[in-house]
Amino acid sequence: MIKANIAHGNLRRVVIVGGGFAGLELAFRLRGSNCQVVLIDKNNYHQFPPLIYQVASAGLEPSSIAFPFRRLFQDEKNFYFRMAQVNGVDAERKELLTSIGAIRYDYLVLAAGTTTNYFGNDGLQANTLPMKTVAEAMSLRNTILHNLELAETEDDEAVRSQLLNIVIVGGGPSGVEIAGALAEMKRTVVPRDYPDLDAAKMNIYLLNAGQRLLQSFSAESSARTERDLTRLGVRVMQNAMVTGCHNNEVLLADGRRLESRLVVWVSGVRATVPDGIPAASVGRAGRLLTDRYNRVKGLTDVYAIGDQALVQGDEAYPEGHPQLAQVAIQQARTLAANLKALQRDRPLKPFSYRDLGTMATIGRKKAVAEIGRLRFGGTPAWLLWLVVHLRSILGVRNKTVVLLNWMWNYFNYRQSLRLILNRD
Ligand SMILES: Cc1cc2nc3c(=O)[nH]c(=O)nc-3n(C[C@H](O)[C@H](O)[C@H](O)COP(=O)(O)OP(=O)(O)OC[C@H]3O[C@@H](n4cnc5c(N)ncnc54)[C@H](O)[C@@H]3O)c2cc1C
Repeated sequence: MIKANIAHGNLRRVVIVGGGFAGLELAFRLRGSNCQVVLIDKNNYHQFPPLIYQVASAGLEPSSIAFPFRRLFQDEKNFYFRMAQVNGVDAERKELLTSIGAIRYDYLVLAAGTTTNYFGNDGLQANTLPMKTVAEAMSLRNTILHNLELAETEDDEAVRSQLLNIVIVGGGPSGVEIAGALAEMKRTVVPRDYPDLDAAKMNIYLLNAGQRLLQSFSAESSARTERDLTRLGVRVMQNAMVTGCHNNEVLLADGRRLESRLVVWVSGVRATVPDGIPAASVGRAGRLLTDRYNRVKGLTDVYAIGDQALVQGDEAYPEGHPQLAQVAIQQARTLAANLKALQRDRPLKPFSYRDLGTMATIGRKKAVAEIGRLRFGGTPAWLLWLVVHLRSILGVRNKTVVLLNWMWNYFNYRQSLRLILNRD
């Protein structure tokens, strides 16, 4: 058997699966505690999902929104990072089953987030592109730019139109953000970079199965978002339930069809359930059912936090908490305090979510923000969005690079990030 090569000591071992917002915050909070911390992730870097759409639309380099784990914990004692794929849990033996072998735990924390949900539709999975990770954003960026190259020299009018049409499926924040970014690209970049292409023939469709965009926001913010996107040139289609995608065609439940060679699928997420987790512990969309202390139902010393968890018993959130960065971070903080309290036989604190507000950006000087009862949009919301996201990115270098990129783009729209990489 392959060995994870982690020394056994006397300290209690906390194994964390996933170094996203939740897992990383927990690892930070356990620094200096009386535990050995083992962080496992299938990637060797932490990524910052809120800016992934800017990588996909060639606004930022992937390295600006990712940070290597080993650099973050370089001088940390009692901390181990291992890059591995987690496959299952042997709760009887208290072992995590990974691609580098079994890893024993005293406490196991599952914080592996979610993956794109295609709702069992193989055609959608095979013929659309997701936008959940930095790697997927790069694939999207390559396809967008490559299609423009192909369109410029394509004689057949119908094929050219398929190459120029981009269909985005999903009217949540990710769909809105990528649609706005691509509409700005069409207006500012395409006419300059592709002078022999008629940019007016490029269509960006945003398909939403519901009646309004940004369902989790107020109706007022939804209306503002649709208005702003329409002004940017996005064709917003409501009640547009996509049922399939093949032969460069997107099929809608009401019989409508759209031709496109690039369909972006940002229409839902689901958690992956590791082997060995009892069915009774799994809730909606694969999320693990926990109590308010994030203990997974039916298991001992196994916790779930962040997008992978569905906390039950909070009257303010009977359906579970929203899958947001703040929820993940706050759950990690509560769990860190509780794991420390366990060592000292102190009482545990139930998780309680403090809503700091939500925001979505639409384009330059266009965004919506809702903080408590305060709802606003336009330039103030956009500036707030920039500040909040800049503050949240890890690393001084990354913050500086992102800020410089944003300033450069704001004043002259002339980035030079539009390389097509890894087409093979
Ligand atoms: C495009 C996009 C934009 C978003 N924008 C916002 C926003 O603006 N504001 C906001 O609040 N939220 C936003 N979200 C949601 C937010 O990113 C999530 O709520 C948050 O990332 C959840 O944190 P997490 O730690 O639970 O999971 P994640 O951040 O997804 O981290 C999970 C980690 O687990 C690792 N992992 C997964 N499976 C395995 C495995 N089998 N083995 C080993 N490692 C594994 C992954 O590599 C990853 O590092 C956005 C999400 C996306 C996809």
